Amino acid sequence: MKRVRCPKCDTFIVFDESKYDEGQSLVFVCTNCKREFRIRMGVSHLTDIHAERHLDEQTHDGDNYGSITVIENKFAYKQLLQLHLGDNEFGRYLKGNTINQPIETSDPSIDTFHCVIRVERDKRGNLRYILRDAPSTTGTFHQNQILKDVDRIRLSDGDIITIGATTLIFRAPPTG
Ligand SMILES: [Zn+2]
Repeated sequence: MKRVRCPKCDTFIVFDESKYDEGQSLVFVCTNCKREFRIRMGVSHLTDIHAERHLDEQTHDGDNYGSITVIENKFAYKQLLQLHLGDNEFGRYLKGNTINQPIETSDPSIDTFHCVIRVERDKRGNLRYILRDAPSTTGTFHQNQILKDVDRIRLSDGDIITIGATTLIFRAPPTG
């Protein structure tokens, strides 16, 4: 799979490049702003998402506060987002959006601000992870249970969060 960015609003569009020939011209309609644009197959502005994924997995800077693996179910496209202390604000990446954990996705059922994972330390200094809904239009699910606006869910390693048609897997940092 490859992806292109809409030149107007920066939304990602993912497509199967194996269906097309090198040098072939493709017309896309942006799923977000409906802008039509054209690309030519085999030129450098196409990003190989698998190459990018390996890059993400190798990137570690400073303290390890755990991570979120994002799996966009429709395309089985994975992203790894490193958590940081404080509020981690998840939503769909959109140009000009100011949330601090944007997900690059073509899933329109993810709000531009969808849910929050708060990373904090308890009195003994242990890390804890608290999930809440933003609130979002389509809801945030923890282990298949929809969160109420007031819910604050403590996450454990391996927990599954679903937003829109996309799965997030919580990974706690290694202990000891
Ligand atoms: Zn657009």
